[in-house]
Amino acid sequence: MPESRQSDLTPQSNNFPITDRIYSLIEMRRNRDPVDILQMFEAFPEPVRQSLLKGMQHLQFTDGCTGGCPWCSFDVKRKITSGFDFESFTQFATKYAKYLPERVALYWASDPFDISGNRQDGTSYDYDDVVSALIPHLRREQKIYTSTTVPKGTEAIVVKLLQHLQDVSKRDITLYNDTSLHTVRFSITDSNKETVYSIKRQLYTLGLDAKYIEGQFRVAKEVNEETIKKLGKFIRHPERQVISRDSMTVACYDGVLTTPDGLYSIYMDMATKNNPYGYGLKKLDPTDRVQEIPTYRDALNYLSESVAEKILNGSEDVVMPAVEIDRKDTHSGESLETVVLPSLRRDALTFFYALTALGLLPESVSPQAQNSLRYMKTELEKRYAIATSQFSSEIDEEAKFVIKPLWKALSEKLNAFLSSFDS
Ligand code: SF4
Repeated sequence: MPESRQSDLTPQSNNFPITDRIYSLIEMRRNRDPVDILQMFEAFPEPVRQSLLKGMQHLQFTDGCTGGCPWCSFDVKRKITSGFDFESFTQFATKYAKYLPERVALYWASDPFDISGNRQDGTSYDYDDVVSALIPHLRREQKIYTSTTVPKGTEAIVVKLLQHLQDVSKRDITLYNDTSLHTVRFSITDSNKETVYSIKRQLYTLGLDAKYIEGQFRVAKEVNEETIKKLGKFIRHPERQVISRDSMTVACYDGVLTTPDGLYSIYMDMATKNNPYGYGLKKLDPTDRVQEIPTYRDALNYLSESVAEKILNGSEDVVMPAVEIDRKDTHSGESLETVVLPSLRRDALTFFYALTALGLLPESVSPQAQNSLRYMKTELEKRYAIATSQFSSEIDEEAKFVIKPLWKALSEKLNAFLSSFDS
């Protein structure tokens, strides 16, 4: 390894080994092509910018991914070839970060710790530096969400980020008590297990608070890799269960996705063989007369646990809506119309979320929860009626197939619940 780079890599080399292969990975991450995010975003006329920002939950800072998760269902290359440049990102953050949604992530089909590059003055930066550039411009309730598999050679940056986030949250004790602030989630498999736990040990050695470590150190998956290969999101696996998590989307929101390649509208639906990722994606073009921007929805509001909790609280917001597209005039920003996008795959995902939520309810619930369930049933019946009316024009055969057993399981469960209250 060249000596000039030794000092740059000291925190990494002191605590985690740097082999020649890891050194090449670090070099590859740093030497990718820089893309100006400010220029890319400001190519869209000012009147539509606010609408784009409102749903921009994921800003994919770099392309490719060196993470190598065995369950990965993104079609990613293992090489990092481009990414936003640091200076344009800091300008973007200064001007626009406060308009982004409450949950902000700096990756998509990529690992945030692959973020690395050289500043214009020649010094290098990493994911922690990018997070530092973003935090001062966020509103108090905005959170940075990080999910990582800890790509090789980034262990010291993970430690640095967690130390930094503890310092940030300690400045405000009310935030410090909120363990959902700036969440870091780790995806663990046999191949990175030792690395992730050595990071955790190091955080204890460095004297970080146990409460903070245990609160922030979220583990996404800790399963045997053979199990992942068998049951993971492998769309063509012979043992795939079509109405289970095996068909769930990898997307977690409807809104706008920003990547080094451009801005996209994105929405969640169910993964089928025709659409193995489980989301719809369409590139936005600033020269188009109209921009079609999906209404922002965060999947967190519709996942089983949150819906079950909302039912128990008597909420009516218990059914994930169909995809809604706001058609805006690019130059005036005026909303021309809002249209509902027909999608059987989206309906299937809605039914799946509702079904898993019902599985978490206790046998007997309060009258307010019963009202919520009645509302859920009415809404889902309407959705099923619309879905079946689209069967003749739907070309995705699996979408039609999957919706039937989902609806059957869901209506049986709902009816059983409601008849036990009414009898
Ligand atoms: S970090 Fe994401 S994109 Fe990278 S390998 Fe894992 S699942 Fe795939």
